[in-house]
Amino acid sequence: MARPRTTFEVLETVRLTDHLIRVYLGGPGFAAFQPNDYTDAYVKLVFPGADGETVRTYTVREVDSAAQRIAIDFVYHGAEGVAGPWAASAQPGDSIELMGPGGAYAPRLDADWHLLAGDESALPAIAAACAGMPPHAQGRVFLEIAGPADELDFERPAGIELTWVYRGDAAPGEQLAAAVKAEPWRDGQVQVFIHGEAHAVMHELRPYIRKERGVTAEWASSISGYWRRGRTEEGFRQWKSELAEREQAAATSR
Ligand SMILES: Cc1cc2nc3c(=O)[nH]c(=O)nc-3n(C[C@H](O)[C@H](O)[C@H](O)COP(=O)(O)OP(=O)(O)OC[C@H]3O[C@@H](n4cnc5c(N)ncnc54)[C@H](O)[C@@H]3O)c2cc1C
Repeated sequence: MARPRTTFEVLETVRLTDHLIRVYLGGPGFAAFQPNDYTDAYVKLVFPGADGETVRTYTVREVDSAAQRIAIDFVYHGAEGVAGPWAASAQPGDSIELMGPGGAYAPRLDADWHLLAGDESALPAIAAACAGMPPHAQGRVFLEIAGPADELDFERPAGIELTWVYRGDAAPGEQLAAAVKAEPWRDGQVQVFIHGEAHAVMHELRPYIRKERGVTAEWASSISGYWRRGRTEEGFRQWKSELAEREQAAATSR
């Protein structure tokens, strides 16, 4: 990702659901922001602190050129962390530095159907993907949320069926994996987009999609964790590199 830094200003915050806070960012920094064509466009937000800077990754839910602003939807997952609490207390006029955007996925027009699954952290990217689909698109969306107070409807083609999966007391991602696996598989070429709690995505859903259902990397390139339970984003980066090393070692010993 090209990483010029731009300073944005908080314009407004909106509580979307129990656990989702939208922050509109704009100000003079907007002119330097160069949107890309990915529906999962993401930025790195830089939070200054006494021990140095902390960087967190967030999806750009929407770019509104007319209003000269971008929207980012933050999961408020409690008092822990940097970005979630920042969003909960952000006030108009606050400033924040941002790098990006990067991105990797957009719905393909040559897919027969789409399978998208995730939790609250992936809801912005999944909603942006659905907004970017042609009206005739077909597919299934599964979104795991804490409960009914976290449902957030979004625009999607009529052929994209949405199921809300309530987490209840289960571990993050457990109910999501069960719901995706219970869904009857469709014929035709699928394109897959799955993100959320890393253990559930990488150890439950990725093997199901790639091995059991035989979806090739070309059509299932966007399956990964967005966060890891019990780890900050720094700890999660470490978890990812350890997983990649283990997988590399397993592949070379075969
Ligand atoms: C490409 C990409 C796009 C992303 N887009 C979004 C987005 O649009 N909105 C969004 O909210 N997140 C998004 N995320 C996830 C976000 O980067 C992480 O959730 C990040 O850890 C949050 O930082 P924090 O400072 O709030 O918490 P951290 O300091 O990183 O973590 C503190 C504690 O909170 C826990 N935690 C972190 N995230 C969650 C969560 N979602 N639910 C429950 N517990 C959590 C951690 O396990 C840890 O124990 C995205 C991640 C990636 C890689």
